Amino acid sequence: MTATSPRTPAPVLVLVPGATGDPSGGGPGYRLADPTVPQLSVTDLVATRGDGVFETIGAFDGSPVNVGPHLARLARSAEMIDLPAPDLALLAEAVDAAIAAHESVAELSVRVMYTRGVEGTGTPTCWIHAKASDDWSPYRAGMKVAVLDRGLATTAAETSPWLLQGAKTLSYAVNMAAVREAKRRGAADVLFVSSDGYALEGPTSTLLVRRGDTFLTTPASAGVLAGTAVATLFAWLREQQGLASGEELMTIEDVKGSDGAWLLSSTRLAAPITHLDEHELPVDAELTARFERVLKGGI
Ligand code: PLP
Repeated sequence: MTATSPRTPAPVLVLVPGATGDPSGGGPGYRLADPTVPQLSVTDLVATRGDGVFETIGAFDGSPVNVGPHLARLARSAEMIDLPAPDLALLAEAVDAAIAAHESVAELSVRVMYTRGVEGTGTPTCWIHAKASDDWSPYRAGMKVAVLDRGLATTAAETSPWLLQGAKTLSYAVNMAAVREAKRRGAADVLFVSSDGYALEGPTSTLLVRRGDTFLTTPASAGVLAGTAVATLFAWLREQQGLASGEELMTIEDVKGSDGAWLLSSTRLAAPITHLDEHELPVDAELTARFERVLKGGI
């Protein structure tokens, strides 16, 4: 039996450094609070089971990028784990409030977390945490990537939907373990490969591959998260540059034989792959800088 759906939406806690927790510091349905003060119950099912979903939105010079697509994906992930639909209008307002309340920084990372809530209550817990982004410049300059087997076939999303491939769940321990394994191998990040031999995605990023003037990514149906950053770049390539883009299943040999590859995400933006294991790939620094401007919301 699954938990019953609540009739009232989860109140949203907006965690911003320096916020006092004063109930007047917020808006209808959300409250600003201090992230350095304990806020989450130890019996929240996200703490005991990793049972929840999330999004990470990038904000550049105070402007968030792709809020609508991120919140729509949050709703899809919530549906995949049978959580009640989140109130997207309230969340969009609370994201803006988080950015407004944070001191002004060039790059802000806004996490939207939505969990199954305290065991036995049936009410989700929801919070938004705004923090200055990590310094991603070393990754944006180019990185070595290790190919690691995810152990699942590209058909897993269809044959075993309970494995939640393509949902952005709060069970990222496996993804983080993969990054540590990459570091042990002298690489900075990971490209997962499926058990049937196809390139998938990174633990926190989408694969982008260049073949001539065509740009390709892994089909979402192969069990990868449908990335917002790759969607932004595809729209720009198509509409502003007149270039082709699309989804294609690619082997690791295809990626190695390509004209360049990147791992994309909303806060790290475009990180070019200099080496896939020991194989060197071409890097176009100018195009990467262009991608970065587009992904920050410019052109
Ligand atoms: N794939 C996975 C597994 C991710 O966790 C992420 C983002 O964190 C992405 C892809 C990239 O998604 P987006 O471009 O929407 O940030």
